[in-house]
Amino acid sequence: RAVRTIDVDALAAGIGAGERAALARAITLVESTRADHRELAQQLLLRLGPEPGGVVSNRVGITGVPGVGKSTFIDALGMYLLGKGHRVAVLAVDPSSTRTGGSILGDKTRMARLSLEPDAFIRPSPTAGTLGGVAKATRETIVLLEAASYDVILVETVGVGQSEVTVANMVDVFCFLTLARTGDQLQGIKKGVLELAELVAVNKADGKHEMEAKSAARELQGALRLIHPHDALWRPPVLTMSGLEGHGLDKFWDTVLEHRRVLTDAGEFAEKRRRQQVDWTWTMVHDQILRRLADNPAVKSVRAEVESAVRNGTLTPALAAERILGAFDS
Ligand code: GDP
Repeated sequence: RAVRTIDVDALAAGIGAGERAALARAITLVESTRADHRELAQQLLLRLGPEPGGVVSNRVGITGVPGVGKSTFIDALGMYLLGKGHRVAVLAVDPSSTRTGGSILGDKTRMARLSLEPDAFIRPSPTAGTLGGVAKATRETIVLLEAASYDVILVETVGVGQSEVTVANMVDVFCFLTLARTGDQLQGIKKGVLELAELVAVNKADGKHEMEAKSAARELQGALRLIHPHDALWRPPVLTMSGLEGHGLDKFWDTVLEHRRVLTDAGEFAEKRRRQQVDWTWTMVHDQILRRLADNPAVKSVRAEVESAVRNGTLTPALAAERILGAFDS
């Protein structure tokens, strides 16, 4: 019904002209799960193509547990970057939103100053579908935002399940915000996130917590040294900052740019984006195949029988897998 009124060329032109309404409509289109919308969304993305004049945007992932100060920091960093002449977009990847139907991330009220700025754009996590679906919509939204001349894209997530890996795979630099932790408390940090992080920041380094934060940063730096080899192209630095007081924002942003320069000089920056595109392609192929497998009537019909044979020990798991795949192929 509404589809007939969507003119992809007009939408692309509106986005290019920086019209917020066109951008918002386009994002709604890439978030839609309707087949006709999906097709229009792909036509639109093809029209917009890669960034004119090569890669200018910075895509920055930001993770940290609730309460670490992400929204306060993003609000402050966003204002700092607007002051430097950037256009700033904030997206969220919140896997819990697909269950609760609402997102605690990307809520405009959490970024009180930034949300009022004409050169800022804040969008909460899509609330439909799987993490894979949210990731797809978010990646496509990044393309739309860049076409609308947003040159800083901040993607926020909390450390739930696979969401950190998902975000790390769609950004140029992945940043982990943490609080001052030392000794045993360090063990509480998910090891996986330290492996993904390209920048670590001990936040809330203000007032009486400043010294504590500095010593926690030193300890974290030690822990990171064990993870990343000496000859690695980039060894993640540990910064201290205060989103509330706005301390360390310049150092944070300089580090993001330094990371970009090091990767660019090694020929790795653009290559990383190309690799992410190819990896994403295969991720979608895998997701689709799994969905088709689960939905396949022949697989459904043998499923219970095969599972019970495996439980009874009358069928080995390897033979059972062959039966299931045989049903899928037939
Ligand atoms: P989020 O859940 O990670 O987005 O965290 P918020 O930005 O909502 O911050 C959680 C709480 O920590 C709020 O009460 C903030 O006022 C406070 N907070 C955030 N950043 C700082 C900071 O840099 N220093 C201090 N002392 N408090 C902060």
